[in-house]
This record gives sequence, structure tokens and C-alpha cells, in this order.
Amino acid sequence: MIPSKFDYERANTIDEAIKYLVEYGDEAKLLAGGHSLLPAMKLRLNNPVKLVDINRIPELKYIKEEDDTICIGAATTHYEIESSELIKGKISMLSQIAGSIGDVQVRNMGTIGGSLAHADPAADWPAGMLATDAVLVLKGPDGLRTINAHDFFLGLYTTSLAENEIITEIRIPIPHGNTGTAYTKCMQPASRFALVGCAAIISKNNGLCDNVKLAFTGVSANAFRDAAVEEALTGHAPDVDNITIAAEKAALDADVLSDHFASEDYRRHLAKVYAKRALMEAADNL
Ligand SMILES: Cc1cc2nc3c(=O)[nH]c(=O)nc-3n(C[C@H](O)[C@H](O)[C@H](O)COP(=O)(O)OP(=O)(O)OC[C@H]3O[C@@H](n4cnc5c(N)ncnc54)[C@H](O)[C@@H]3O)c2cc1C
Repeated sequence: MIPSKFDYERANTIDEAIKYLVEYGDEAKLLAGGHSLLPAMKLRLNNPVKLVDINRIPELKYIKEEDDTICIGAATTHYEIESSELIKGKISMLSQIAGSIGDVQVRNMGTIGGSLAHADPAADWPAGMLATDAVLVLKGPDGLRTINAHDFFLGLYTTSLAENEIITEIRIPIPHGNTGTAYTKCMQPASRFALVGCAAIISKNNGLCDNVKLAFTGVSANAFRDAAVEEALTGHAPDVDNITIAAEKAALDADVLSDHFASEDYRRHLAKVYAKRALMEAADNL
């Protein structure tokens, strides 16, 4: 439970953090809230020589609205997102996701950028990012690039983030018109990580769903959008019968995880149950 020896640097700007990443290459690790990295270091699963603390860089901590988009600095904590009035008013599902993470201590320290970079298969944010079609802003020595959340998560703890890049911002399009959102999850009782987490967004036009987005976390090695459920509900009224039929298609083609918390069959069952709950709640929020 004691990490191997490491040096610590506190970066004051994004560029300073990148400078350390370039200088130390794969020996360096960014430290944000430390709530995933430090446990991994204590288990010696991760042994960085240089820890680069980005937690006090002011340009990474903000929540603002810009051009119909919510922009969140990567070092913004789960608690800051959970308690943001702007987010509650514009995309309440994001407050729900943040409020469901771990306990108060985890939410006060853990950051959205750290969670996305870590890409834990049971983390909550990835489902929210996929359902909202979020875009991540990454910065490296060659400057900024943006990447759609759909292209960011590659697998178990694996993303398309380069070794010398830092996530600087998350951009989430604000849903328009008659739209309801919801996040439901079956949580591991001790950690509150998702055994199954489901983010749902329903838009309604003339009484029918014209846009349905549904994303899972915890079910597979990485979060995914469930096209079968989305297609089954699109064009139909968001009532209990149609939602039940659509939710039955949940995770049908997914490569479902199995562990001592939930077998493959049980997780697949939970995916249907939580898809139905998320869709029903999103429909109620229309
Ligand atoms: C007891 C406990 C319960 C938890 N329960 C939940 C839960 O219910 N749901 C859930 O989703 N999570 C849960 N977590 C994880 C928690 O949300 C973490 O805070 C989060 O996964 C990582 O964020 P962090 O800021 O702590 O990142 P860190 O641990 O500091 O870093 C994690 C990784 O991301 C990298 N990194 C950090 N920031 C950036 C950045 N801006 N750009 C690029 N790379 C970066 C780091 O180098 C490291 O590799 C739990 C953690 C604990 C300890």
C-alpha cells in the first residue's frame, strides 16, 4: 500500500504541465484529484517517477455557457458540477451523474477530466459524454485538438489521449426544444461505481420521440451508445409500453462484463431494467 518513490511538481499553467509531460515522457503522470491515480500507485499498478499536479491551475476550473454549449474545465470537481445552477438548469442529467459518484470526499476531490482520462469501465462520466455527444478539447506540445467523445474511449482504461496531452475542456451541446434527460445506475454498494449506469436523452416533436440517445457504462469494457434501443423508440410516443419494448433491446449485442459483483446474465438483465428507468425518467422530464 506504499507507492514507489516519485517526485512532485505543481504546474501553474496548462503549458507548464505540458512542458513536464514532454520533458519526462512516460515517466510523468498528471495528478488531478488523485482518486484513481493514487490508489493505482499504492497498488504499484502505476509507478510514475514524476507527478505533475494540475489541480490548482485556474484555467482548468470553470463551468460556463458559450454558443449553446456548456464548457467545463477539466479540473472541475464532481461536486462543482453537481452543485452548478447553470448545469441543473440546462442539462440536469449531468448534475445527477456528478451527484451519484462515490461519496462526498470523492466528489470534492475527483475531477471530470481525471475520470475521462482514466476511462474506468465502471465510471459514470463516459456514459454522460456519449449520450450528450460531448467534445473533448486536448492540448499537447503541438497545440489544441478536439475529439468527439465517441472517438475518445477505446477500451478498458484506454483512450485516444496521447502521452504528452492534457484534457483541458469538455464541451457539451445544450439540448434544444422539448428534451428530457436522466441518469440511472445500479451501484456497487461500497464504492458506488456503476455495475450498470444508463444516460438517456429524449426529444419529442408532435408527441413522438424524434431523437433518442441512450448510453451505458459498467456493462462493457468501455461505455457505449445503444443504437438498438434508440432506434426502437424513435418515431414512437415516449409512453410506458413503447419504452418497455425499446428497453428490452438493451445491450443485446454488447460484450457484457462478468465479475463477482454481477454475472454477465445479471448485468444484461440490469441493462434492460436501468434503460427502462432512465427512459421513463427522461420522458417524465420532457
Ligand atoms: C472510494 C472511491 C469511490 C469512487 N466512486 C466512483 C463512482 O461511483 N463513479 C465514478 O465515476 N468514479 C468513482 N470514483 C473515481 C473518481 O471519480 C475519480 O476521481 C476519477 O475517476 C479520477 O479523477 P481524478 O481527478 O481523481 O483523477 P486522478 O486520479 O488524479 O487521475 C486519473 C488519471 O487521469 C489522468 N489525468 C487526470 N487529469 C487529466 C487531464 N486533465 N488530462 C489528461 N489526463 C488526466 C491522470 O494522469 C491519471 O492517469 C471513485 C473513487 C474512489 C477512490
